[in-house]
Amino acid sequence: MVDEKYKVKDYYPTIGIECHVQLKTKTKLFSSVSNEAIDAEPNTLVNHICFGLPGALPVLNEEAVRLASKAAFALGTTPQKFSKFDRKHYFYPDLPKGYQISQFDEPIILDGSIVIHLEDGSQKTINITRAHMEEDAGKSTHPSGEDFSLVDLNRAGTPLLEIVSEPEIHSSAEAKAYAKELWLRMKYAGVSDVDLYHGNMRFDVNVSVSKDSQKFGTRTETKNLNSFKSVERAVDYEIERQIKALEKGEKIVQETRGWLDDKQKTVSQRSKEDAHDYRYFPDPDIPPIVLSDEYIAEIKKSVQRMPEEIREELSEAGIAKATIEALMESSGNEDYVGLVIEAQKDGNKFAAFVANFIVNDYFKLISDSRTQTNGAESLNKLPGIKVFSDVFELFSSNDISSNSVVMILFKFSQGTTGSVNDFVDKNNLRQMSNSGEIEKIVDQVIIDNPKPVEDVKNGEMKAIGFLVGQVMKASQGKANPGLAKDLIKKKIGV
Ligand code: ADP
Ligand code: MG
Repeated sequence: MVDEKYKVKDYYPTIGIECHVQLKTKTKLFSSVSNEAIDAEPNTLVNHICFGLPGALPVLNEEAVRLASKAAFALGTTPQKFSKFDRKHYFYPDLPKGYQISQFDEPIILDGSIVIHLEDGSQKTINITRAHMEEDAGKSTHPSGEDFSLVDLNRAGTPLLEIVSEPEIHSSAEAKAYAKELWLRMKYAGVSDVDLYHGNMRFDVNVSVSKDSQKFGTRTETKNLNSFKSVERAVDYEIERQIKALEKGEKIVQETRGWLDDKQKTVSQRSKEDAHDYRYFPDPDIPPIVLSDEYIAEIKKSVQRMPEEIREELSEAGIAKATIEALMESSGNEDYVGLVIEAQKDGNKFAAFVANFIVNDYFKLISDSRTQTNGAESLNKLPGIKVFSDVFELFSSNDISSNSVVMILFKFSQGTTGSVNDFVDKNNLRQMSNSGEIEKIVDQVIIDNPKPVEDVKNGEMKAIGFLVGQVMKASQGKANPGLAKDLIKKKIGV
């Protein structure tokens, strides 16, 4: 039963997503060949197993099992105690064995669920049907104008986890939020490098539309999307295309489609195989995986904080939802989330101070300096917690202005070292926090500016700004503007 709110024209869209996650093992799924070099020359990371030579015997990489087991917890479930590998047969030049080693009816993960967070602030639970381990195929290229194709087997045999969702997604916004949430969870589980650009995570979107909210239509599958935006766009495109076709009286055929990013459209690639076409059977070379209770308990302990917990902890500190999402998405080489959680030990206000600086100011500093260095990595690096703490203290006691906060933290991000207090003194940043001193200046400003004072009395609030400006000028920028404003109001009696 699809909710009315999802209706597009007269149709209910339904989406199920399959996602391939490349597990970050040192070696391939069934051989000792490296799984780590991104830009290696073609066919240099290969051996007899990748080539599928007769007699070659695959041996399961235990680390892949460990990472897949961790992923189970990130998908809201536990790994299966028993799972096995099967052969999935199909013919393609980049699959020399003629079959892919995958998991069919007894995968390592069954029945998970994740909560997705939409941009409008709402959330929804999406169930995970299953997730199975499998080896990747090689890569074919078809040089244009040539009568040959090239095959690179470097990718053949790299370990993947394929995560399959239930058809419970009903809009492109939900599809995008689902893709993003999976990405975050795989990242925080530490099972993949999650580099979308290098194809560490690829999404296949199955889309159908139906006039009947109780019954799904025929689906198409658009494969290998590698950005959240392309997931969203491909779903929108397919919903439109299918509705148009059905309105013209055409039938939707079950097929595999590809996404042309430059044209922002999907195109038909081939008609879709059904499971029976693959002639699955258990792989006789790989023994089943049997996990003990102790092993599963140990894996569970090793799983770090998941995005759900981070959201909960940081929103308790009063940090805005969008700020938390930005921190989580951008954490990588620099562990922003970790720093904010560390700050939280010294209070929620301090955590919010650090989080807001990172998202509102530091991200801008990074992107500005990237522009200046033509996209090269900038040299900025967040200062340690001690610097933040000293700056926060000076700010909280009104010793420095908010402009100075940003300036000081920028300087320390760009390599300034030493004590914050020395820096403040050397650069003459200390504000006049003594209200007695400010009061004297305020009194003088009121005497010297009768006209604006009269305006304020008559309700012209803009004139207060002018008076504050005069106080700042007379104090050589050292007065705290908030304090000055309060004093002016009090003295004039508004
Ligand atoms: P296959 O490997 O043939 O694509 P799977 O069962 O692995 O089949 O994946 C099917 C995916 O398609 C799942 O994510 C499922 O939720 C989704 N799906 C199934 N039926 C529909 C449908 N009618 N409309 C949209 N998505 C669907
Ligand atoms: Mg599929």
